[in-house]
Amino acid sequence: MTQPEIHQFACLKDNYGVLVHDPEEAVTLSIDAPDAPAIERALAQRGWKLTHVLVTHHHADHTAGIPALKSATGCTVIGPKAESVRIPCLDVGVAEPDTLALGRLEAKVLDTPGHTIGHITYWFPKANVAFVGDTLFAMGCGRILEGTAEMMWASLGKIAALPGDTELYCGHEYTVSNGKFGVAMEPGNDRLVARLAEAETKRAAGEPTLPTRVDVERETNVFLRAGNTAIREHVGLPAVPVWKVFANLRERKNRF
Ligand code: ZN
Ligand code: FE
Repeated sequence: MTQPEIHQFACLKDNYGVLVHDPEEAVTLSIDAPDAPAIERALAQRGWKLTHVLVTHHHADHTAGIPALKSATGCTVIGPKAESVRIPCLDVGVAEPDTLALGRLEAKVLDTPGHTIGHITYWFPKANVAFVGDTLFAMGCGRILEGTAEMMWASLGKIAALPGDTELYCGHEYTVSNGKFGVAMEPGNDRLVARLAEAETKRAAGEPTLPTRVDVERETNVFLRAGNTAIREHVGLPAVPVWKVFANLRERKNRF
């Protein structure tokens, strides 16, 4: 099958909007709805008609645009069943291992709790792409606001276990700040050092650093690398379970 067309655009302070379009079936998905006017402009520029919103989690910077999009287009709103009372206009609540058929596109729902308790990821195995919301960021991860560190560690592990060439679209542009933290935790990781420099160049030119890829994250995201000896030694936790090293890294990032 042909790949869907994917359009990513910056909106709000540091969010990304993403549209996924299947030209043959006239299906257009918006991944989350951070900002209705920005999404409507992006749709109009391409002549696409919105058919679905796929929501990753209930936070306002991912859902505030839903009511306006719903009334303008009559789109179907799909989102985490576990957060159904907190998501406006939700039509269909989903959870792992649900599969969604959207025209010719097929998405698998993965439960990725931690940032919020019901956070989900949409993985499109045939298109080789996943929309991870605020669970994983380039060289970073979301804050643990509702779940536990153990939960978040398991969620990140699910994303890291996807095929290496899976493209990852994330909710925010936090790459440079994450990269600086990563280099502080694992200064001997040359790929990480190089990636930070690359990200800084892109941001200085006003370009996005996303999407990222699973294989790149495995090599340069210190949160996924919490079991790595150099990182364990750096934080002084050589022998505790890996999720505790991860929890320590997340705490350090909050104060970085
Ligand atoms: Zn969020
Ligand atoms: Fe967010």
